[in-house]
Amino acid sequence: MTHKSIYRLMAGFRRFREKYFQENDDHSIYHRLSSAGQTPKTLMIGCSDSRVDPAIMTGAEPGELFMVRNVANLVPPCEPSAVGFHGTSSAIEFAVQNLKVENIIILGHSQCGGIRALMQPNQEATPSFISQWMSIAHEAREQVLKNSEVLDEATLCRQAEMESLKVSIRNLRTFPFVQKAVDERDLHLIGIYFDLERGHLWEYDEKSQQFHQLHI
Ligand SMILES: [Zn+2]
Repeated sequence: MTHKSIYRLMAGFRRFREKYFQENDDHSIYHRLSSAGQTPKTLMIGCSDSRVDPAIMTGAEPGELFMVRNVANLVPPCEPSAVGFHGTSSAIEFAVQNLKVENIIILGHSQCGGIRALMQPNQEATPSFISQWMSIAHEAREQVLKNSEVLDEATLCRQAEMESLKVSIRNLRTFPFVQKAVDERDLHLIGIYFDLERGHLWEYDEKSQQFHQLHI
């Protein structure tokens, strides 16, 4: 079974190679990308969830999206670089400082397993990498539980998925180089929520602090 799924991926790579690596094609995307380097305009911060692949969802070409994916598409607050291992923060730093991206899109989604873990009662009782990581969104959990009447788990999670996007946008601004790029060169910070049951996208409006459905 395992082998079968790997063969499928290898067949996919064969199609990819046929598409992008034609012999003697000096105008191919990879010829350009390998000789001139990458110049993506957008940093995408997505969830590791296999159903939410930003490149598949957007039909992006190679070189178009600089991507970081982690559990629940979280942005941690800026912390001292000397302590700990900051995978997401270093990707943000490279994208903003070196690649000078024009947009940072945080892509949240429905049915997020990380957020479900966050919303479990006693979620911090059993320490794990996930519970420690998800503590970034603790504020979102508190916000949802504070404002909710007795709601079903799915509704609470959906609200927390959206609230955690707001936390991540706020955390982006705690990186001095992000805020500087917003002020000086109009770097766009964008929060998008993907409803994977319906195939809808919602965009977060920082001014009104509401999500609006995108009609694409
Ligand atoms: Zn997720």
